Amino acid sequence: MRTSKWMITAALLVSMSAAAQQAADPQSAQPPAQSPAPAVTPTDASQPPAAAPADGSQPAATQSNQAAAPALAEPTPPPAQPAPVTMDQVVNLFILREHGLIKMLSNRTPVVETYLQNLTSDPQLGPVPSDDHYFLGRLDMGETVDRKDYLKDDQKEGMQARLLGGFHKLYKVEYQPVGFSWMVYVDRTDFDREHYDFTYIRREFLGDVRCLVFDVKPKPKSGRGRFLGRIWVEDQDFNIVRLNGTYSQGVKNTYFFHMDSWRLNLIPGYWVPSYIYSEEGDFSAGVKNRIAFKAQTRVWGYDLKKGGKDDELTQIRVDSVKDETSSTQDASPLQAERVWQQQAEDNVVERLTSAGLLAPEGDVDKILQTVVNNLEVTNNIDLPRPVRTRVLLTAPLETFSVGNTIVISRGLIDVLPDEASLAAVLSHELAHIVLGHNLGSQYAFNDRMLFSDDSTYQNLGFRHIPEEEAAADKKALELLKNSPYAQKLDNVGLFLKILQLRAGSLNALLTTHLGNPLASAGTITRLSGLSTQGPALDVNKLDQIAALPLGGRIKINPWDDKAEMVKTSPVAITSARDKMPFEVTPFYPRLARFGAGTAQQGAAPTSAAAANTTPSPNPSN
Ligand SMILES: [Zn+2]
Repeated sequence: MRTSKWMITAALLVSMSAAAQQAADPQSAQPPAQSPAPAVTPTDASQPPAAAPADGSQPAATQSNQAAAPALAEPTPPPAQPAPVTMDQVVNLFILREHGLIKMLSNRTPVVETYLQNLTSDPQLGPVPSDDHYFLGRLDMGETVDRKDYLKDDQKEGMQARLLGGFHKLYKVEYQPVGFSWMVYVDRTDFDREHYDFTYIRREFLGDVRCLVFDVKPKPKSGRGRFLGRIWVEDQDFNIVRLNGTYSQGVKNTYFFHMDSWRLNLIPGYWVPSYIYSEEGDFSAGVKNRIAFKAQTRVWGYDLKKGGKDDELTQIRVDSVKDETSSTQDASPLQAERVWQQQAEDNVVERLTSAGLLAPEGDVDKILQTVVNNLEVTNNIDLPRPVRTRVLLTAPLETFSVGNTIVISRGLIDVLPDEASLAAVLSHELAHIVLGHNLGSQYAFNDRMLFSDDSTYQNLGFRHIPEEEAAADKKALELLKNSPYAQKLDNVGLFLKILQLRAGSLNALLTTHLGNPLASAGTITRLSGLSTQGPALDVNKLDQIAALPLGGRIKINPWDDKAEMVKTSPVAITSARDKMPFEVTPFYPRLARFGAGTAQQGAAPTSAAAANTTPSPNPSN
């Protein structure tokens, strides 16, 4: 039984109680008991399976063994249902689909990341980040929504550590990461007609997908923590694709976030929770806020492949190693050293990928490798093995290298303003490779890869000593000055200047987990030789874009972790407040059905300003 996992009811709390009180009594956050899920789920067990459609494409037998499916088997699409005739039937269908989704995901443990910025009001720029927090964990989508965190720097064990993640108690307001995780479902246990009233509002397009919009209200006395808001249901299979609202009031001193939660159709028949935006606070005159923040939660790694000996990629690599080595010759000591380094590199790349932290090799790498290649060619760099690149899936601004692989985080690619700035951060890692600053050869021993995914940060690390950092920066500058980017280093200088300006309020975003930080204690440490380059930073100058908001460049497919470049058309910046460097913005993915068209599956998180321009065919609003 998993009733001990009471944290589900703690999920939504922001505890407003004083830090001291929390520290004295860690159990004080214990929520009131909530009755467990009813034994009979009315929409699930009591309904006979729908008859197979006439074409026989969806045999009814497939649904009986859904629960027995092995952990990583491809999900079976839900059985087809007769087309609804009334809105009442539509409600029955989306309740049924929601229960089907909860069941399908119950054996999954995706990665969940929440990045949160507390806000303060700047007279010119409006709300700007004052400090920030970062949570990264694995979400157990079983009977409860539980999570395990990757960040364990508070040295706490057990429940408390899982609830608080790496977030210390020094803060007056505590954000509990489980709270953000909760928002993946409307109601994990009681989403039915006994607990909710549904009101049909209108039809509306979200991206390419026509939806039916319903308001959802908890029935009186249906209990605390019920969803209150609006849902969008696609009009083909009647899956919920978006939910927007909050949860009804909880116990004293607790607070429920408002949230906008989006799902993507990444596999046939299901829309899986992918993005959640939360925001609180009001900066209008006269309002006195207790909290003001905005936060992005992303879920990915639903279908993590465990890298084993029968992994297809391993087979390919073994073949290529054989090809390179002549069978009539023994390896020289130098060759042996290189093979050893490559083995370590391969082990690390494979392990980070299976932990859900690294995207598989893909289109973004082609762009990164082109930039690296530009640096190599113009500097006559000829390495025994080509430099590879990979995208770290997380938000903190971070790069590192292992062997000949350069890793750069999604968040860093997002905020870099141009290709020259990208070249600058890559040049530092290329310099480490050129200078032979090899790290990580200990990872050629396979026992060192045997750790749980959530302890990755305790088991892997690629930090250089200060002398190597300084040498790499010096070499990087040299590489850049010979490169096609030599004339554009002013932009790099601007990026470093705004990073310096904001570094003090973006500690979590600048805290690296595997490599050396770009800044420490509020001061830029990386590429500091370039930080005086270029014009003075002017945050009010509209055509001076020193850094971009998070989420504008890279999109991740939450099912298979593939990274893609976001395709957006430029939106004119009309005020200094539009620039939002390093900031969190709402999500507005362009929804599309599975397999429809090209490459919309990862969805582009863009600012709400770029919203939904497709008119509704039924303009009842
Ligand atoms: Zn370095």
